[in-house]
Amino acid sequence: MATFLVLLGPPGVGKGTQAEVLSHTIKLAHISSGDLFRENFKNHTELGTLAKSYMDRGQLVPDDVTINMIRERLKREDCRAGAILDGFPRTPAQADALCPMLSEFGGEVNIVPYITAAENIIIERLSGRWTCRAQGHIYNIKSNQPKVSGICDVDGSELYQRDDDKAETVKTRIGVYFEQTMPLVDYYRKKGKLVEINGAQDVAQVTKDLLAAINKK
Ligand code: AMP
Repeated sequence: MATFLVLLGPPGVGKGTQAEVLSHTIKLAHISSGDLFRENFKNHTELGTLAKSYMDRGQLVPDDVTINMIRERLKREDCRAGAILDGFPRTPAQADALCPMLSEFGGEVNIVPYITAAENIIIERLSGRWTCRAQGHIYNIKSNQPKVSGICDVDGSELYQRDDDKAETVKTRIGVYFEQTMPLVDYYRKKGKLVEINGAQDVAQVTKDLLAAINKK
């Protein structure tokens, strides 16, 4: 049966970084809703233009378009064994939609690692984050520097600071997280799926804790 993980936690806590490492280690597809929106924008699709208008304000893209995008993504061959969902679901309506979607693909949400860190840590991480233009690989000016400044180690593309990682938008995103995404913590806790992970630790330790939690399930 396919295995599906939902990585939950505030923006900047390290979901993207961990999802990338985990997808190589446990050989599951990495689905990042934010990356899918950014890719659509880069390719000038209608969905990309719509999404960008919400992303730039730090607001969530409407549920219906987000859910449809994820449904399409899950149909791809690389998700047959399962996937690591990073940034989706982000609202109770999205979580409700996910359950029947996964059963269509012969799976369910197996585990929801909830990665936490204090607000000052996530603000510091977001403001120091640099992202690669080609594939969204993530770096940090303090904790995870590229070998050559401004260049992605993996694909050699330029690193840039996301518009929505700038101070004003970061505040809105954190507010939106507390209002709209936090209810999912209880939602998955009640289902017995939630495992808390201390995201304030260094990247390698967080990965170790995640793998231990996944292997236990
Ligand atoms: P992220 O890359 O996960 O930080 O997402 C960047 C932005 O994309 C968010 O601030 C939202 O505007 C949008 N976004 C990503 N995932 C979702 C989602 N599941 N639902 C609604 N909007 C999303």
